[in-house]
Amino acid sequence: MQVVKPRGRLFFANPGPTNIPDSVLKAMSHHTVDFNDPDFLTVYHRCFEGVKTILGTKGHLFFYAGSGHAAWEASLVNLFSAGDRILIVETGHFSESWGRMATAHGLEVQTLPAEWNKGPDAAALEAALKADKDHAIKAVCVVHNETSTGMTVSLKDMRKAIDGAKHPALFMVDTISSLGSLDFRMDEWGIDCAVGGGQKGLMLPTGLSFTGLSDKAMAVHQTSTLPKHYFNWTTMLARPHKSFLGTVPVHFFFGLQESLRLMLEEEGLAHLFARHSRLARATRAAVKQWSGNQGPTLFSADPSRYSDSVTAVRMPEGFSSDGLRKTAHERFNVSLGGGLSRLAGQVFRIGHMGDLNEPMILGTLGVVEMALKINGIPHASGGVEAALQVLAEET
Ligand SMILES: *Cc1c(COP(=O)(O)O)cnc(C)c1O
Repeated sequence: MQVVKPRGRLFFANPGPTNIPDSVLKAMSHHTVDFNDPDFLTVYHRCFEGVKTILGTKGHLFFYAGSGHAAWEASLVNLFSAGDRILIVETGHFSESWGRMATAHGLEVQTLPAEWNKGPDAAALEAALKADKDHAIKAVCVVHNETSTGMTVSLKDMRKAIDGAKHPALFMVDTISSLGSLDFRMDEWGIDCAVGGGQKGLMLPTGLSFTGLSDKAMAVHQTSTLPKHYFNWTTMLARPHKSFLGTVPVHFFFGLQESLRLMLEEEGLAHLFARHSRLARATRAAVKQWSGNQGPTLFSADPSRYSDSVTAVRMPEGFSSDGLRKTAHERFNVSLGGGLSRLAGQVFRIGHMGDLNEPMILGTLGVVEMALKINGIPHASGGVEAALQVLAEET
C-alpha cells in the first residue's frame, strides 16, 4: 500500500534546531554584501550589542561560523593547556559530550557525578572544590539547561558553591538551549565563559555560535598553549570584526538582527520568558495527566529543575519512544525529539523553545496523545484538556 504523505506544514517540536520565524527567513534572503561594507558593519555591530544584552554581559564576545560544538571547542582551546584539569558537572548527554571533547584535546576531565533525572548537588560541588587544595581544577563547566533530560540547573547555586570553596576556577556555562528562552545573567551570576548557539532560542538556522567572556577569562586566555588557529581569540581580535579569520557569514547577521529585534523589541525578554514558562507548564500538565494508568512520566524527578524550554518524557517500561515518534512524524507531520545516548528509545522530547505559541503546543500535545492511543501505549487520556486548562487560566 502506498504511504500517503501528510499535508500541511511540518510541526517542528524538536528542542533544537527550532522553528525559524518567517521574518528571520525573509531577512536572510538578502543579496550578498562585502563584509566590510559600512551598511553591513552597522548590522554586525547591532548584533554584537544585542547578543551581549541577551547574555547580560559587558564583557567580551566572539562569534564562530559553526554550531554549538564550535563554541565549545573554541572555549576549550583558548583557555587551557595540555594536561589542565577541568571539572565537568554531570547533567546528561551534553555534559558528557563536552567532557569527551575536552579529553580529546588533552585535558584531564574530572566529573562531578549526578543522576540524570535529579541533576547535580551544589554541596557536592563545593566539597569537590574544597578537596582540590592546590587548585589544580582550572574551570567548573556546567550545562545550564540539559537538553537531553529537560532539567535546568541554578547557576546562582553553582556560583555560590565555587565561592563557598573560595576556589579560583573559571566558571564556564553552556547556555546553548537556555539563552533566549530562560533568564540568563552572565555578569550578575559571575560567569566567566558563556557558550551559546544560534539554532535554539535565537531561532536561526544552524551554524552560528559564540562565547561571552569575562576579563578574568581573557587573562587566562593569555596563558593557554593548546594548539589553535581559526578559533584563536588573540588573532580574531586583530581582525576588523573581532571574530572570523576568513569570510564573515553575513547572512546569519541579517537573520540575527531580526531575531534580536523580535526578542528584545517586539516581545521583550520578560514576556518571552513568561511565554516559555506558560507553554512548558502546559506541556508538563499534559504529561502528568498521561502518567495515569502507568503511562509515560516526566523524566525529571525534581520539580524545582523542570526546564521551561524542553520536556523529556520517559516511556513506560517495555515501550520504545521511537515507534511513537515515527507515528507522529509519518502520519501527522510532527517532529519530536528522541532520547540521546543512554536514553535512546526510553525518552522522547518536546521542544518548547523559540518561535512557538499556544496552538502549536496544543497541536503537538494532541498528536502525542493520538500516537499514544494508536501505539497501544498505556496512559490516561485528557492530557490535552489538562494543558488547555493551564493555558486558558493564564490568558
Ligand atoms: C544543542 C546543544 C549543544 C550542541 O550544539 P550543536 O549546535 O548541536 O553543536 C550543546 N549543548 C547543549 C545544551 C545543547 O542543547
